[in-house]
Amino acid sequence: MLEFRKAIEQRGKVLNSQVVKVDTFLNHMIDPELLKLAGKEFANHFKDKGITKIITIESGGIAPALMTAIELDVPMIYAKKTKPSTMEDPVVAVVYSFTKEKHYTICMEREAMIPGDKVLFIDDFLANGEAFKGIEEFCRLRDAELVGTGICISKNFQKGRPYIEKKGYDLYTLAAIEGFKDGKIVWDFSQEQE
Ligand code: 5GP
Repeated sequence: MLEFRKAIEQRGKVLNSQVVKVDTFLNHMIDPELLKLAGKEFANHFKDKGITKIITIESGGIAPALMTAIELDVPMIYAKKTKPSTMEDPVVAVVYSFTKEKHYTICMEREAMIPGDKVLFIDDFLANGEAFKGIEEFCRLRDAELVGTGICISKNFQKGRPYIEKKGYDLYTLAAIEGFKDGKIVWDFSQEQE
């Protein structure tokens, strides 16, 4: 998606050979118009899949997930990284954080996802697919179907993309990074559907 690639190039920052900073428009300060477009793009791709719930993990995925949920007119769940005292019967999974380099537990109220739900996972980044695996586990534990995943920025040189594709999931990305050269992003256009 041209608008997303432009935003990353103009407003993002390549921190090192693995990490991009996008806290000027995606996961700290949020550009509502850009995120509205992202929601429309994801919704358009997944509109015929019978999605009943959107899920993400706090906090970076919340904005694109909510925008997609508005377009598809379905509820959106964000898995929490700390169990609140009000959560009575949580479903939990352990996830390894690529950026924080540690394991953490994600939790969700059991009744938020019900057997038979058709679930779409939306996130800001795809790196090694650890967040995706956590959501896969939630769906398994709740007997729900993980229909696919919409990712704003996929770093195709990491392990997530091959993991998801090998399992046959529908993976739709707005911007795909092949790698970095001289501090600049090299885009992978091979999966772009414009
Ligand atoms: P994964 O679970 O696929 O290994 O990593 C995805 C998660 O790690 C995303 O939800 C995001 O929070 C974080 N992440 C991965 N790569 C980057 C990156 O390059 N920049 C930022 N800001 N977050 C990242």
